[in-house]
Amino acid sequence: MGFKKYLSSLKSYEAGKPIELIVRDYGVKEKAIIKLASNENPLGTSKRVIKIIKKEAKNSYRYPDDSMFELKTALAKKYNVDLNNVIIGQGSDQIIELLIKATSNKGDKILTSALTFAMYEIYATHNQAEIIKTKDGIHNAEQFIDEYKKSKPNLVFLCLPNNPLGDCLDKDEVFRILDSISSDTIVALDCAYGEFAAYKDKNKEIKPKEIIKKYKNCIYLGTFSKLYGLGGLRVGYGIADSKFIDLLSRLRAPFNITNISLKAATVALEDFRFVKDTLKNNFKEMEAYSEFAKNRNINFIESYTNFITFMLPKTIDSSILCEYLLKQGVIIRDLKSYGINAIRITIGTKKQNKIVIKLIDKYLKR
Ligand SMILES: *Cc1c(COP(=O)(O)O)cnc(C)c1O
Repeated sequence: MGFKKYLSSLKSYEAGKPIELIVRDYGVKEKAIIKLASNENPLGTSKRVIKIIKKEAKNSYRYPDDSMFELKTALAKKYNVDLNNVIIGQGSDQIIELLIKATSNKGDKILTSALTFAMYEIYATHNQAEIIKTKDGIHNAEQFIDEYKKSKPNLVFLCLPNNPLGDCLDKDEVFRILDSISSDTIVALDCAYGEFAAYKDKNKEIKPKEIIKKYKNCIYLGTFSKLYGLGGLRVGYGIADSKFIDLLSRLRAPFNITNISLKAATVALEDFRFVKDTLKNNFKEMEAYSEFAKNRNINFIESYTNFITFMLPKTIDSSILCEYLLKQGVIIRDLKSYGINAIRITIGTKKQNKIVIKLIDKYLKR
């Protein structure tokens, strides 16, 4: 066939197992399934958002406002920037895709940490660009600076905090990296979990306004999929200098965000109660997992996100543990495909976490 040769060796994203699959394969009742594998919001979809979705449904025959004026205005207000500093994507995933398309050709280099969000590498391979990695999975400012000097990439991804490990650089370290990078290299700060990090530790809070004023080569990426609980509606955004946004926007397909998604995201931004409840539940419940890990001598990485990653000892195989949990209707993320014997658990509700911890405990005691 006339397809490009590299397609047959292309890796695709390994998504968290969908609930429907567990119902089919393991015969577990849908209601009993606990899915803590994709860092979705355990509080579900907020009532205010559901209400606006229902209301907006009648406008489905219309094309969306392609200027996305309403949502851009809301985001610009939140971050104290101008409308022309904002681009909206079908998830921040789409902005990552556009960034790589806009910057990288065959042979170009993209720098990331050794263990980070899989989509950077996947979109890099779409464009046949080369991924260069720092030595460690955990973000390390020195390593980024050294590797940058050595390999001169034309695009750098800092994942702040880092999925799937949960670690996060301090703001000072991010600025140190940015200071050492030349203005013709594009830098993306992927802050999909940024609100969680900022809530836990002010030293991790990245303010897009500060970034884009000083670094015209840098873009801040945010999403509605995690804190705001809108993973299924696919809305993310980028904030950068207006010239940066203008160039990147030329690659955006028209009407890439649906009417319903635009409305829902706009309302979600104002839903302070839901946001607060989410953050509170997250860090309170995170303690249940860290306590458990400490008691059981399991290594874990201090997390600034809505998940926790357990580094398992050799005696426990991550895939076997995940399979055991699946049979009981619990879906978490096996990190074997990242080359580590580890599991990533999204922080759930109190009730869910209790069940999950109990099951893991039972498994360890066998
Ligand atoms: C979830 C996630 C995203 C993007 O999610 P979208 O649903 O596409 O907005 C981006 N980066 C990281 C690190 C993530 O974990």
